[in-house]
Amino acid sequence: MPAHDVLIIGAGLAGQRAALAAAQAGATVAVLSKVHPVRSHSVAAAGGINAAIAVEDDWRSHAYDTVKGSDFLGDQDAIEVMCAEAPAEVLHLEHIGVTFHRDETGRLDLRAFGGASINRTAYVADITGQAILHVLYEQLLRFGDRIDRYEEWFTTSLIVDDGGCAGVVARDVRSGAMEVFAAKSVILACGGAGQCFKPTTNGLICTGDGMALAYRAGAPLMDMEMVQYHPTTLVENGFLITEGARGEGAHLLNADGERFMERYAPSKRELASRDVVSRAEQTEIDEGRGVGPDGRGIYLDITVVPRRRTLEALREIVNIGRDFAGVDITREPIVIRPGQHYVMGGVRTDVHGRTPLDGLYAAGEVACVSVHGGNRLGANSLLDTLIFGRRAGEHAAARAAGTRMPRVSRAPLHDDARRIEAILARPAGAGRRVSEIKEELGTTMNRHVAVFRDEGGLRTALDVVRRLREEAESAAVDDRGTVFNQDVLGAIELGCLLDCAEAMVVSALERRESRGAQFRTDFPRRDDAEWLKHITITRDGDGAPRIGYAPVTITRWEPEERRY
Ligand SMILES: Cc1cc2nc3c(=O)[nH]c(=O)nc-3n(C[C@H](O)[C@H](O)[C@H](O)COP(=O)(O)OP(=O)(O)OC[C@H]3O[C@@H](n4cnc5c(N)ncnc54)[C@H](O)[C@@H]3O)c2cc1C
Repeated sequence: MPAHDVLIIGAGLAGQRAALAAAQAGATVAVLSKVHPVRSHSVAAAGGINAAIAVEDDWRSHAYDTVKGSDFLGDQDAIEVMCAEAPAEVLHLEHIGVTFHRDETGRLDLRAFGGASINRTAYVADITGQAILHVLYEQLLRFGDRIDRYEEWFTTSLIVDDGGCAGVVARDVRSGAMEVFAAKSVILACGGAGQCFKPTTNGLICTGDGMALAYRAGAPLMDMEMVQYHPTTLVENGFLITEGARGEGAHLLNADGERFMERYAPSKRELASRDVVSRAEQTEIDEGRGVGPDGRGIYLDITVVPRRRTLEALREIVNIGRDFAGVDITREPIVIRPGQHYVMGGVRTDVHGRTPLDGLYAAGEVACVSVHGGNRLGANSLLDTLIFGRRAGEHAAARAAGTRMPRVSRAPLHDDARRIEAILARPAGAGRRVSEIKEELGTTMNRHVAVFRDEGGLRTALDVVRRLREEAESAAVDDRGTVFNQDVLGAIELGCLLDCAEAMVVSALERRESRGAQFRTDFPRRDDAEWLKHITITRDGDGAPRIGYAPVTITRWEPEERRY
């Protein structure tokens, strides 16, 4: 049985950064990932990463912008840690080889991003995630003597022994073989759960596995109602057009050709925070001033950005516009709309990545520290993955140094193997297809748990999610083989999505106010007296979600009205 001091599930930016930190702290490390590490969703990150690097900037200004962006739900102690450590982390990336864009004077160039009071987003054209992920992967190979890589291994459950996390069960995607991995510390770095929605900007692999694994093992989820809709996704398929476009100066226009953000956010306009811009767009669409097919979209006009600059700094979205919408964005506006992009909620952790379950850590999009609170600022997620990935790696290594290797039984392996055999044995054609259930889940969530929500819609969504959970129990798979059986893994992922979706809807119903990404048309005001608190969701003995609360940590910034 493989045994490591620190076992990391997930090899996106959070997982790779955690692995490097743990190895540098002297731990033996394994990184296990269901896809090849450089295919993690982090590779799709486009616009950049925030850090108060400019001489006229200050990390406190970054922290205040983040607190305000979070609609005062973010924990300020964690936000201070993230923002204060950001400049050193970005310079570290630069030193290990990330080719951040520089200006004519040779300094790191910084672009404007939403909700920021100053230009503070470092970038590599519009492929920032790819650039960082590949450099970290080189470093992972460099530490090959201390970091074992299990690429294309799918984790099916966490092993909890004596009240703590002692390892995981995983399946080799290539062969179907099952294995138990023992570890002194386990770090979940499994990314987000965007596939609960359709459409979404998230890759097919973002199925909330880590949140579901932790939840089933008894760890609480937090802020799950806070789901971010990004203001600019292609109207037909949900592909992301990076906020970098508006950072470079692009305008949003309605059917009257009006730059309507001037009405909603007079000083920041297109660069207000994402929740504010998405709501403004949806209001324009709902009030009949939309454009494109059935008036479901808004124009994003990038032609106001000098063409040379667009071709240099936004070349990837030039390709996306041409290939997926048939539009040359340097010459004509493109039709976009708000689309699901990010989950602010996740597995509750402290600033060292520790979850309340002994030995279990979480970092990156799977985690909720909570630095994003009700709404994440663009370019703060890459930062979150790296800062808290590193901190979790360091803490997990230190914990492992003073801990004995747990003795782990193989019983959980047999349970999971039987579970998979049972899925494979379901009679073909008896139940609905996994893909159909996933489609209904995604469209339901996108209808009722989106930019605007109300009690009736949320109750409908909850009923649908619970019915789909029952249907998923009998959903048959076509592929009954062992080699690269993505079909059976898809059935397991569907179960994870349903757990996450239920937590999102239950939390959204519970929060009877409007804050950040949660806008309840039946409770349109923010209510600090009642709701300046986190909602947590823990799994009951009988499998039902149990609601709890956690206080918001306030260090220096008292809640105030939010204006952009
Ligand atoms: C299109 C797009 C553009 C974005 N642009 C930006 C941006 O410009 N700036 C910014 O700050 N943020 C951006 N974001 C958000 C940011 O990219 C993500 O939040 C962040 O990269 C998540 O990193 P992660 O390490 O937490 O997870 P991921 O990169 O998603 O990695 C998850 C890892 O977990 C593994 N995994 C999952 N489940 C299992 C399992 N069951 N068993 C084994 N392994 C598993 C996967 O294989 C993968 O390696 C963007 C997101 C998208 C979708």
